[in-house]
Amino acid sequence: MKKGKTIDRETVNKIYEAANIVEVVSDFVNLKKSGEIYIGCCPFHNGETPSFTVLPAKNIYKCFGCLKGGNSVNFVMEHEQMSYREALVYLANKYHIEINEQEVTPEEREFYLSRENMLALNEFAKNTFASYLIENVEGRAAGYKYLRGRVFHEDTIKTFELGFGLSDRKALTNFALKNGYRQKYLVDTGLSKLDDDYQIFDRFSNCVIFPVHNLKGKVIGFCGRVLNKDTKMLLKYKDSPQSTIYDKHRALYGIYQAKTSIVHNDKCFLVEGCTDVLSLHQSGIENVVASLGTALTIHQIRLIKKFTNNITLFYDGDAAGIHATLRAIDMIFAEDMNAKVLPLPDDEDPDSFANKHIESEIEDYITKNETDCLLFKTRLLLDGADNDPIKKANAISNIATSISVIPADIKRTVYAIECAKLIGIDEKVLNNEIDKRQNKLNH
Ligand code: ZN
Repeated sequence: MKKGKTIDRETVNKIYEAANIVEVVSDFVNLKKSGEIYIGCCPFHNGETPSFTVLPAKNIYKCFGCLKGGNSVNFVMEHEQMSYREALVYLANKYHIEINEQEVTPEEREFYLSRENMLALNEFAKNTFASYLIENVEGRAAGYKYLRGRVFHEDTIKTFELGFGLSDRKALTNFALKNGYRQKYLVDTGLSKLDDDYQIFDRFSNCVIFPVHNLKGKVIGFCGRVLNKDTKMLLKYKDSPQSTIYDKHRALYGIYQAKTSIVHNDKCFLVEGCTDVLSLHQSGIENVVASLGTALTIHQIRLIKKFTNNITLFYDGDAAGIHATLRAIDMIFAEDMNAKVLPLPDDEDPDSFANKHIESEIEDYITKNETDCLLFKTRLLLDGADNDPIKKANAISNIATSISVIPADIKRTVYAIECAKLIGIDEKVLNNEIDKRQNKLNH
């Protein structure tokens, strides 16, 4: 590899166009045609059933056992343990494509280098926080005691790689500097912060730490639950600031630990907080993620869509929870996904609920109470609207908007029929409203 050069965009496009996933995979795996797709034994895990599928129509592969999947370049990288560039060169040779190179700008080089350094530092910090939690006297007395008090099991603490930030406000910063990590990256990752006098301090001092992982299991950020008995702290939670490796609008807490179960169950539960994820996970509901305290975004919904089309919203039963639910419904519908709501009893959140019940009771509750989102929304909006024409008109308008964003015709029609019944109006009236909104969307 020549230093300071990269394969130019046009060559990369040519390689992607030429690389046929069936041909590329067939060099390594015995594939059998089955209808429109090809199946075989997965080269990445020791499964007993042929769970490895190749979809020529989409030019991708996917294993339903270990969940590895992607395009031809991903396959070569994974199978041959090659870098991105090496995989491109391999495919260019296979398809006789001439490689043109262009210079890497110093900015590009700096960008990739800084990302690598930040991820390495987060890995170091995660391990340090974990050792503080288990091996440090203060960590055990405060952090570990807190987690066990919340009835989190040893296994859960390990699976989610939980940790503790010591109350000494320079503990992690100094330890990282001593180990050769640069101050610049401590500040860039947000693990440390500079005060007005350019003194550097730990962001997550006296905190129980919840690392946030990306799909590959790399730690991209942290959430911290502040433990403080002495003062009345206003802030209970802290998290890493936005950075080149951490975008909280695109991350989902628990996605790395949940993805296998999401595919297996073809469903994803969405909750609000880290501890909700932990409690449900250790109660046996492993297909659960949280949106990290921010309002749900379209990017987070698309991240879930990589694994399933079915989302169940499992939010608190309070007003804020209901508001969040209503907002999420339209976004999920617009992505052509299915949404359900699991209402909780008053005064409960998923965390407290999971702690009070065993797995079979939770599953039973889910079966009995999971409600279609739009019917849930319709009932909620109609509540008390019987003798209030304005409220009823608003409800109809609101529901028509929700239905109008559904891309699939059949689904839209079925919802219009069901909702019109619930509201007690003629289907035509509702359809009229839906059509008006659709015409607006299409122009
Ligand atoms: Zn596999």
